[in-house]
Amino acid sequence: MIPRTTVFVNRFSRTNPGERAAPGRRAGGVSGLAPAAADVPGAGGPASRGPGARRTIRAVRVIFVAAECEPWAKTGGLGDVVDALARSLARVPGALDEPVEVFLPRYRSVPVPRDRPVETLAVRVPDPRAAGGSGEIVIRSFEAAGYRLRLVDHPPAFDRDGLYGNARGDFADNAWRFGLLTRAALETRRAEGRPLDVVALHDWHACAGVLQRDLVYGPDPLIGPAAMTLTIHNLAYHGWTPRARVAQIGLGADPPAGDGWGIDLLREGILRAEMVNTVSPTYAREVLGPEMGMGLESQLRSRGARFLGILNGLDQELWDPATDALIAAPFDAADHSGKAACRADLCARVGFEAADPAPILGVIGRLDPQKGFDLVAGAAPALAAGGARIIALGSGDAGLVAGMRAAAAAFPGRIAMVERFDRDLARRIYAGADIFLMPSRFEPCGQGQMIAMRYGTPPVGRRTGGLADTIVDLHEDPAGGTGFLFDEATPDALRFACERAIGVLGDRDRRRWDGLVRRAMAVDWAWERASAPAYAAMFRRAMAARRGDLGAPAR
Ligand code: ADP
Repeated sequence: MIPRTTVFVNRFSRTNPGERAAPGRRAGGVSGLAPAAADVPGAGGPASRGPGARRTIRAVRVIFVAAECEPWAKTGGLGDVVDALARSLARVPGALDEPVEVFLPRYRSVPVPRDRPVETLAVRVPDPRAAGGSGEIVIRSFEAAGYRLRLVDHPPAFDRDGLYGNARGDFADNAWRFGLLTRAALETRRAEGRPLDVVALHDWHACAGVLQRDLVYGPDPLIGPAAMTLTIHNLAYHGWTPRARVAQIGLGADPPAGDGWGIDLLREGILRAEMVNTVSPTYAREVLGPEMGMGLESQLRSRGARFLGILNGLDQELWDPATDALIAAPFDAADHSGKAACRADLCARVGFEAADPAPILGVIGRLDPQKGFDLVAGAAPALAAGGARIIALGSGDAGLVAGMRAAAAAFPGRIAMVERFDRDLARRIYAGADIFLMPSRFEPCGQGQMIAMRYGTPPVGRRTGGLADTIVDLHEDPAGGTGFLFDEATPDALRFACERAIGVLGDRDRRRWDGLVRRAMAVDWAWERASAPAYAAMFRRAMAARRGDLGAPAR
């Protein structure tokens, strides 16, 4: 399976000094956003009464449009975050008027549940490929643990192997597929006559929605006034649509958007959404420069205070070693002795000697240059020769793991490369490894290092983006460290950081390692504590901007 459409060649930054956290807390937070919803000018709704009136704040009606949502469809953290954020917003007092509705394609791999009521609605949706210019799309809606999932069921678009493409590459009609997704979401609310305040667009797949609002639905009393926010989970994927394919988006053959070569959907989203955010404060700063901005740095800068970073949380109920039924033994921060059984179980599953005390380094991720599997491959022979063992789990572009395959072949029983998407094995690696590797070249936020910490597996991460916001280096902060950071995106820098971690793990005096594990497990990642309220505040600010209450956009 091919991951999200890559359209831009990245240039990587070398060092990114990050924020540091106080012990037991995560470092990141929100950048660039007034914290309290009540501070937002014009955050009120219909209760506003003329100039100077104090506006009462009312809850908002929000829909999400996204290409992934766990457990239904996931290739990486986008799916985790869409699910957890939608659920956690319902737990923020006063944030929502109704549960979030998440519009998700019904891919071939997405089952319609049989264990709960499913509502079916046929909606007529403008479709450039349909005879007569519009076609019927079925929306299947049901409760999904704290929000309402609305599957956009249109087999010609979504009943295929792969979410974004197949072994031959990205689907050539992705602009049509995802343009139809956003159009179906907007048309569903129109058909139901249910107004909405905010459409939260996630990544480029949803960005056609803001073009559709601006170029088609402006006069529509329901869609026209809706504010739109764009959350950038990964700036590397733009949804670049060449002019020859622009008609697929469903805005006519030559809409007044983009430029001569076509439409960069993410760029349109950045420029047109009322508010734009990415998923950590450090990444939000990094992308304003040419090294990390993926060609969109000037557009992001042009948004001024309308662009901010909100650090992701983690769903601490879904990711909990005390209740995780898939791992060999439960454990928690107070008593992590169960990790030994998890470690032995993991060894047995990948053909490692369970009784061998040699440290186990785990790495899990999409096979994408971003994730640094090549750095792991470069460091692996020296690490293995030095006594360490490595278990890597990755899915996506198999061409990217030739180095890991070679390392695994050279060190059987010491290096394992598992090439598939395997939720269960991922949990067993988080629980059973000693150290988790996250050598990302860039990292908008990262869920992997948070999950690893929660499962008592201190991460070795590159000091970039959300990794810098979530990992506190043990040697820089001996009393507060939760992991290990390194700067250069090289195999040697990764290896040295691994050797530092292995050194502490191997100390005869266990107190330093045990303290590290205890602190890593104790970090509070709860979405509803900080991140979800920050999204609620952003939604209100977007509504104010849509009404014109924030003045002209900072372009
Ligand atoms: P990204 O969003 O860039 O993919 P994150 O670290 O934010 O990276 O999220 C990755 C998520 O996807 C985590 O939940 C991780 O466990 C999961 N994941 C990635 N690759 C695999 C795989 N091959 N098998 C199972 N889970 C995977």
